[in-house]
Amino acid sequence: MSIVDDCVFCKIVAGEIPCTKVFEDEFCLSFLDIGPLAEGHTLLIPKIHYGQLPDVPTETMTALATQLPRIGRAILKATGAEGFNVLQNNGRIAGQVVPHVHFHFIPRKAEDGLGYRWQAGSYPAGRADEIARCIAESLD
Ligand code: 5GP
Ligand code: ZN
Repeated sequence: MSIVDDCVFCKIVAGEIPCTKVFEDEFCLSFLDIGPLAEGHTLLIPKIHYGQLPDVPTETMTALATQLPRIGRAILKATGAEGFNVLQNNGRIAGQVVPHVHFHFIPRKAEDGLGYRWQAGSYPAGRADEIARCIAESLD
């Protein structure tokens, strides 16, 4: 399905809601996040509605992936940021609010106050091999 009625990003693609556009091509649209975590916080979306990353077909994903380093370079140049995070949330449990797949580019500077809890764990003996094999066997 290409346009989903109650999807805010589909409405942006359709021109029904304005956005501050950065870039577009046949497959992709990039625009500023309306609630920036930092100046220049940018979103990249496919023009066709896909809910989450696993739903995106290869041709569209290739088009999106091609823009990741390009937009990243532009973010660094334009904002003077020292780095940036690419964030891509899938599912409400992972913080996804807008159910149209999207990538965030969040410029980062020293002491910007941004961050996340990253509580690294460890595997009991044998579990890493087990879960890696399980993931490998689940690849389609
Ligand atoms: P999520 O939490 O789903 O990964 O992030 C959705 C993002 O979309 C949020 O950062 C939010 O500020 C942004 N957003 C939501 N509605 C609009 C809108 O109408 N216009 C723009 N430009 N960004 C939006
Ligand atoms: Zn949509």
